[in-house]
Amino acid sequence: MSKKLYGINTICTHVGEIKDKQFKGAVSPIYLSTSYEFDNVDVKRYPRYFNTPNQEFLAKKIAALEHTETAMIFGSGMAAISHMFLAFLRQGDHIVVQNTLYGGTSNFIREEFPKYGIEFTFTDSYAVTDFEAAIQSNTKLIHIETPSNPLLTVTDIKGVADLAKSKGIITTIDNTFASPINQNPIDFGIDIVMHSATKYLGGHSDITAGAVAGSSEHMDRIWNVSKNLGGSLSDMTVWMLERSMKTLALRVKAQTKNAKKLAKFLDTHDSVAQVFYPGLKSHPEHQLAKAQMHDFGAMLSFELVDGIDAMAFQRQLQLIKSSMSLAGVESTMLLPSETSHSLLTQAQRDAVGISNRLIRFSVGIETFKDLKYDIEQAIIATKPEAALTN
Ligand code: PLP
Repeated sequence: MSKKLYGINTICTHVGEIKDKQFKGAVSPIYLSTSYEFDNVDVKRYPRYFNTPNQEFLAKKIAALEHTETAMIFGSGMAAISHMFLAFLRQGDHIVVQNTLYGGTSNFIREEFPKYGIEFTFTDSYAVTDFEAAIQSNTKLIHIETPSNPLLTVTDIKGVADLAKSKGIITTIDNTFASPINQNPIDFGIDIVMHSATKYLGGHSDITAGAVAGSSEHMDRIWNVSKNLGGSLSDMTVWMLERSMKTLALRVKAQTKNAKKLAKFLDTHDSVAQVFYPGLKSHPEHQLAKAQMHDFGAMLSFELVDGIDAMAFQRQLQLIKSSMSLAGVESTMLLPSETSHSLLTQAQRDAVGISNRLIRFSVGIETFKDLKYDIEQAIIATKPEAALTN
């Protein structure tokens, strides 16, 4: 099955299915065995080798969606990131990473790399010139995240990929926020794509998983290290992820449609100071996003005007949940300074523009008017005048 033959919903539904030859059931069987025959077989299967039938088949779906030769499924997004980095970096190597990154990734780099003697530079901004300025003679990897968490900055994928290629450096991208439905970085020259599958790939806030996709050559290197680190995913959850991914395109397209409408609504609202969404014409990289994304995604952030407390606003929401994670079918909001980026110091947050007022909004599939109403009523209930009349 190839991306040339099938449309996106067919890939989501059918690529990577395991045919139930025994009973002819409509869905893939789950193979929970941790023990497989080893004599006279082509593949020595073992869950930590990332090659049980369910792991192997789901990887085909992810590879097809990300336009790569192959893929691997991990126990979490952080397992995917850490195994991927450690496959290409050794003592004395250097990595260039984008300044605006998911907090857990920055934290992993800052806390763990010094123990391994791996050098790192966070760029000053997400401009290609800043990636170039950070490259050293021992740079082996450049890692980007676009759109980024939580400010939705957009990095020039092709610009960074071309730069890295000209210097023989491998590129990796965290494609979690866009999902393969809204962005395929491989088509712009990136070598390896990773996902926190806990987010859109899972999509129902009930799975923790990760994925990495790339060429067979790169993925062999990742496999060689990953089998030692041991971050594979249990087959029960692999099966749940396969089921969830059948509706990936349907969900993400519905979420993106809602996000575009909500970004416009918030952008023109008196009580909203600023909206960060690549689909808005006012976004500094709107044209770039248009060129490298299929659509603008379902994540956005905003700040309320001075005088409306962000935490109090969140408490007034009745439909939209306050949640640590993102990308489920239900809409959720959080304050990055209290959650995803709380491990960073105030100075580190200030440096990347994450204020204590910033609210990150993961837009779900609910009916648009209900989301709009919930935000409106929560703003009214939080306004200082409301406190006076209550
Ligand atoms: N990358 C991004 C952009 C994320 O938002 C997250 C988690 O929020 C991760 C990676 C880490 O994923 P996980 O929590 O599945 O380990």
